[in-house]
Amino acid sequence: MGEKYEAIIIGGGPAGLTAGIYLTRERVKALLLEKMVPGGTPLNAVRIENYPGFPSTISGRELMDRFVSQAKGNGLEIVEFQEVIGVKKEGDLFTVETAEGFYETYGLIVAVGTIPLRLGIPGEEEYVGRGVSFCATCDGPFFKDGVVAVIGGGDSAFEEALFLANMAKSVYIIHRRDAFKAQKVLQERASKNERISFFLNRRPVEIRGKEYVKELVLENVKTGEREIVNVDGVFVYVGSKPATSFLGELIERDENGFILTDENMSTKTEGLYAAGDVRKKTLRQISTAVADGALAAFSLTKYLLEMKIHRP
Ligand code: NAP
Repeated sequence: MGEKYEAIIIGGGPAGLTAGIYLTRERVKALLLEKMVPGGTPLNAVRIENYPGFPSTISGRELMDRFVSQAKGNGLEIVEFQEVIGVKKEGDLFTVETAEGFYETYGLIVAVGTIPLRLGIPGEEEYVGRGVSFCATCDGPFFKDGVVAVIGGGDSAFEEALFLANMAKSVYIIHRRDAFKAQKVLQERASKNERISFFLNRRPVEIRGKEYVKELVLENVKTGEREIVNVDGVFVYVGSKPATSFLGELIERDENGFILTDENMSTKTEGLYAAGDVRKKTLRQISTAVADGALAAFSLTKYLLEMKIHRP
């Protein structure tokens, strides 16, 4: 068994890193386990415009680099490429299992965010890396002067469509309803962009091609009529889901798998807290993840003091 910690944070996005900053400033012996590199979903955002304090915008990467350097500067230990595959609790002690080994801790904050949902239509899996993508920032440059479809009507679809419009000749936003969820400012910007056009009340039913994607088949949700749109790429932004099976029965989940907590970020298991997008909540933003992380760390510190695990 590895070293024993007072607190382990699982997930290095905005919620987990904020929790790390707050815990280490209370001199709690804390470790953050991250399955890739720290930064979370914002790493893919070209521009962050609604995180207060950056009126002229900041890239997701730069913002998250600042989070990481602040957390490390306060003494947070971060271990990268450590995917957690199981958590058990015996007495007051949690055992956290990764592919590399085991860690022990008295307190746990789960801040693993979400993973992108897939459309589940023919051609989607087949053409991943050959025209189908879930990351415009990563793959957008391959579609310079091309024609791309962006599926979805939320913030992600609009932000990525606007980014792609800097490179692609045409960007089609394909949405299954006639009203979008995305923030109004993004909708206005997309409407004014000559390279972006909208296909409403359509759902994608098949992605076709040869070596690479060539066609997207759409079905009109009102009439059932089908049409074929010629595209070079399909970017899928149809929401995301939490991945928390490694927690077994230690937490309660809503019908979509998001973790139920109280207002202090406590779960049904003592010493176990959840923060950020993985939690059932009404607004998933960096600002709300940061708030969750701070609260989870505060609650966990209080718990460790009450249990006399952490000494003031
Ligand atoms: P989202 O808000 O859940 O939107 C997903 C979109 O995909 C919806 O328009 C949905 O349609 C559509 N959709 C779902 N399943 C579909 C399917 N099978 N076929 C076709 N369309 C489908 O997801 P998101 O845009 O990824 O955003 C996730 C969260 O992150 C949100 O809370 C969002 O506000 C936040 N976010 C914030 C920012 C920011 O503040 N800058 C940036 C990105 C994301 P319906 O509308 O019909 O359900």
